[in-house]
Amino acid sequence: MLTWESPVSAMRGVGAARQAALASLGIGCVRDLLYHIPRGYQCRGNVKTVAEAAEMARRGDSMPVSLMLTVSAEPNYRMIRRGMSILRFRAFDETGTCEITYFNQNFLRNVFHTGGEFRFFGRVSAEGRTIKMASPIWEVCAPGVDLPGIVPVYSLASGLSQKILSQLIRDALHSVGTHLPEVLPPEVVRRQSLCTLAYAMQNIHFPEDGDALIRARRRLIFEEYFSLGLAVASATQPDTAGVRMPEGDIAPFAGALPYDLTGAQKRSIAEIAADMAGGKRMNRILIGDVGSGKTAVAAAAAYIAARNGYQTALMAPTEILAVQHYRELSGLLGRLGIECVLLTGAVTGAQRRAVCESLARPGGAVVAVGTHALLNSSVQFDRLGLVIEDEQHRFGVRQRAALAEKNESAHVLVMSATPIPRTLSLVTYGGIRVSRLDEMPPGRQVVDTFVVDESYRARLNAFIRKQTDGGHQVYIVCPSVEENPDKKIKIPDDPEELADLIFGAERDMDEKPPLKAAVEFAQTIAATFPDLTVAFVHGKMKNAEKDRVMQAFSEGEISILVSTTVIEVGVNVPNATLMIIENADRFGLSQLHQLRGRVGRGKAKSYCVLVSDTKGGDARARLDVLKKNHDGNAIAEEDLKLRGPGDFLKTGGEIRQHGDIRLPVAAGPGDVEILAAAMEEARLILEADPDLSRPDHAALRATAQDVLRETANTMN
Ligand code: ADP
Ligand code: MG
Repeated sequence: MLTWESPVSAMRGVGAARQAALASLGIGCVRDLLYHIPRGYQCRGNVKTVAEAAEMARRGDSMPVSLMLTVSAEPNYRMIRRGMSILRFRAFDETGTCEITYFNQNFLRNVFHTGGEFRFFGRVSAEGRTIKMASPIWEVCAPGVDLPGIVPVYSLASGLSQKILSQLIRDALHSVGTHLPEVLPPEVVRRQSLCTLAYAMQNIHFPEDGDALIRARRRLIFEEYFSLGLAVASATQPDTAGVRMPEGDIAPFAGALPYDLTGAQKRSIAEIAADMAGGKRMNRILIGDVGSGKTAVAAAAAYIAARNGYQTALMAPTEILAVQHYRELSGLLGRLGIECVLLTGAVTGAQRRAVCESLARPGGAVVAVGTHALLNSSVQFDRLGLVIEDEQHRFGVRQRAALAEKNESAHVLVMSATPIPRTLSLVTYGGIRVSRLDEMPPGRQVVDTFVVDESYRARLNAFIRKQTDGGHQVYIVCPSVEENPDKKIKIPDDPEELADLIFGAERDMDEKPPLKAAVEFAQTIAATFPDLTVAFVHGKMKNAEKDRVMQAFSEGEISILVSTTVIEVGVNVPNATLMIIENADRFGLSQLHQLRGRVGRGKAKSYCVLVSDTKGGDARARLDVLKKNHDGNAIAEEDLKLRGPGDFLKTGGEIRQHGDIRLPVAAGPGDVEILAAAMEEARLILEADPDLSRPDHAALRATAQDVLRETANTMN
């Protein structure tokens, strides 16, 4: 009988070759196999009749659908030219006939016999009265077998096919599925309303429906974060001594603000103050949507440090953000007599010497705002007590360590609008607590959002003109070409693998209208508005150059900024009132929300226009979410629901590439709640049983140790 720990070679159908193939995916035992989570899903439950598919095709709806068809005559096979053959046949249901073609799939002649019943999945096109499908995915409809509506798509290795892998996983689930070890303590499962591991495993691979998939995914993400939280907390010294800052009264600071702090800001500041007063080193992340007012919280923390006689270093990922923070902090703190200085790569010579001298001198500058330049060993602090990092994911672990070395007991506060998954790299390095700004400052204007297609181009240009005539500035974002490199496909030898490859498992089911090449697009815009200053920033530019353009934009020297998504998170240009996003369907909703957050920062009414030419109804429905929703969390939730089984897990590979940590299921910004809940539960468990020595925590201890080992392996 198989167990969790059984080697895959103990499974039926796994010989030496397959074992090696599985090993190349990091799969050695049954547990690994079950944790080989699909990288995506295909929704094949959308079954249509030929008549319905014909109607969709005529409407221009290009959603892939499933058709249940019977083959009406033996396939016709033809060589079109050397190396290119075509297989063509007709298949029908009670409402009509569909013509199906495959290229270079000669061997399929032996599959599609007259009278055979199949489920075909793919895009349908209409031509006159007939409809066609090119290279659809096919499955045999056997009597008494229910074909699943949602089909997993796995990362493969050579020698494995989707069918083989999912069959192996099915077998493994079948033999160990009902007695999987439950690692989570029962009270945690109850408190968090999690499903069982058995249910999660069954439904992450072969979901009953979208809801089951979401439940399964939540459980697995929770489990991973929870183990991570335990690992981290049990590995790090919970009692690293920190600078004691008992004086936590922020009334004078709050009184000097031009607005009232929100409840969430007050709560976060109180949490920070309590950490800094406690004598242990603070390690806290402040998570808040764009515009939630993280800077004011940072300023309050710096204020507390200052009142206790300590300096603060605030590190921003780019020059422009550093300058922006410097302005804001010196505005907020300057009037309370707290001296702020700016230190970036652009600060040189005598000016730099003066800044450094001031920071190193007792009684000198109190708050240093800057970029990496702060890390330079020549920058010495007299009494550094607090380190704040904005948008932390840009910083490597080593840089963080370098800053911490300037004073090992300095408190650390990290701020982020998009904490997942990059936050994980940080989570692995300290027992971190989370504060959340889940409330927007009052009176925040709603950015009116429109979804339009190419036919609106002239009106859109007129609208740009109207904004610039009013003295305002415009952002235009388009996806860059480099973001979608053509994948080179290696043709496999194994016919089944080839079939999978060609029939779609590996095929991008969502071909989209051609991307606007960002460069050309910028040129077109410049030509359309010859009297305005149009600038272009893109990912391939040098940082200094990017910063220069962004700076010019923030100073109002540029009217229209065309960019790929490199527009810095957190850039604040209140005079910009229009955000246009081209090929908007290419972006995730949360990303669109972030981009939209660049406007609506001043008093003037602001707008966001999402341009998309995609015909499919669901792409449109997705974008419409942004029209109605203005809260980042709600949007992330909707995103998850809507992208649904289709592709919300697709980012899995990315995380692994970052080398941060092995995640069973790709996490997105919508998972912040899960992270926070899991960290909190981990903390509660450790409070009760600090070294996990209780017998009922043995599995937890083992898991935590696993995570640590794994993290240590992937970190370097
Ligand atoms: P983010 O969280 O995106 O970094 P910021 O700190 O840049 O947000 O704040 C966005 C804007 O909201 C700033 O103009 C800031 O002055 C303003 N703001 C922050 N807190 C409040 C508040 N409590 N009431 C009103 N406006 C606020
Ligand atoms: Mg910010």
